[in-house]
Amino acid sequence: MDKPGLITKIQQSLHDDSHWLTRRKLVIFGITLILTGLLLGLFESGDEPEPVRRPDVIELPIPERDVPSQPEGTGEGGAVSVLTVPGEDDWVQVKVRRGQTLDSIFRSQKIPIALLHQIMSLNADTKGLKKIRPGDVFEFRFDADGNFEKMRYALDEARYLIVRQEGVMLSADIQQREIYTAVAETEGVIQSSLFVAGKRAGLSDAMVMKLANIFGWDIDFILDIRKGDRFMLVYEKLYREGEFLRDGDILAATFINQGERFRAVYFENGDVAGYFAPDGRPMRKAFLRAPLNFSYISSGFNPRRMHPVLKRVRPHNGIDYYAPRGTPVYAAGEGKVTRSAYSRANGHHVFIKHANSIETKYLHFTSRAVKKGQKVKQGQTIGYVGSTGLATGPHLHYEFVVNGVHRNPRTVPLPKVEPLKGGTLTAFQAQAAPMLTQLSRLESASLYASRE
Ligand SMILES: [Zn+2]
Repeated sequence: MDKPGLITKIQQSLHDDSHWLTRRKLVIFGITLILTGLLLGLFESGDEPEPVRRPDVIELPIPERDVPSQPEGTGEGGAVSVLTVPGEDDWVQVKVRRGQTLDSIFRSQKIPIALLHQIMSLNADTKGLKKIRPGDVFEFRFDADGNFEKMRYALDEARYLIVRQEGVMLSADIQQREIYTAVAETEGVIQSSLFVAGKRAGLSDAMVMKLANIFGWDIDFILDIRKGDRFMLVYEKLYREGEFLRDGDILAATFINQGERFRAVYFENGDVAGYFAPDGRPMRKAFLRAPLNFSYISSGFNPRRMHPVLKRVRPHNGIDYYAPRGTPVYAAGEGKVTRSAYSRANGHHVFIKHANSIETKYLHFTSRAVKKGQKVKQGQTIGYVGSTGLATGPHLHYEFVVNGVHRNPRTVPLPKVEPLKGGTLTAFQAQAAPMLTQLSRLESASLYASRE
């Protein structure tokens, strides 16, 4: 049916009051046909027609610095949250709220502001009190008459700044806090998500990110993770004054992805520092397998999304990563931006030229973070996931081009990296041996457990 014919028919039916149902159907059909025609016209001019697919992703917010919640019922003008810690010391704790100043904290404790100015002018450390942040804790001690005696403030996790008043004498010094590092080990099996498995293994999200960052050059943590994948790690745990403080660095780790084993050991020697495979090759490669910050994406992957390989790697020129709008996209490797522009088909897009005649392309950004001609480092944010251009939902379309030929970014062999050599290799092997033994023990224990 040609369009003028259709319109005539609609007009005819509009005058036929006895068939209003048919008329409505025809009107809807006509509008649909016109819209389809418009859409087809659009797609003809595009260079990347993509089938409609609804993204189903769950966002995992990046863990934020812990800021205490506001206490209820606080009035205006320098109201503070006060927690009195009972005990021999009788410190009064004050947590800094957003927008709060040191003046208002002192006022709330009925400490003369003149004293605050005296404290601030004691030395460089007390001068630094200007830069307090929400969540910081000030602790005060008063004598029986309510006069200021002492103030304690954590400059960082290992140091207290102590201010004392004795008679007319005011002094400030630094108190070191005892921090002890223990070596721990853990392992996990992925059932639904890497983050959930990490939590079950006693790891914070930050530690899971560290683990993923070690293997991110070999494993695509967005598309390649499967149920049954396993990880084992040897890592540091920090204790302060006898209490657990936080997890430290990963010393060695194994990741078994779809049956393939990857191992890494941390090594530092002279100007060499980083994670190395048992053969002495750096884990860091010239290109990242997936150019996205996966922490925004993979926490919510579900079993239904575990085997969608054929649906996701389509025979078009690249890979589509469905991710929440605004997810940072990284330069997969070091290079120079050859294009940073907007077009109707590609939306906001960025092309990067790398060594070895390799070019990477990134489409549909909500916004770009680099300019044409700019040099970029691997892992540098170049834009943010969006749905500009011909995209049905927020996603990154990623292409990997070698000598002008499109290759599959997930399977293309990447340029080899030089391994450690000579004395450095010998030193690495000596340091890695006990770590690898520990990993082997964890790996067999994990395998045994998973077969029970
Ligand atoms: Zn695509």
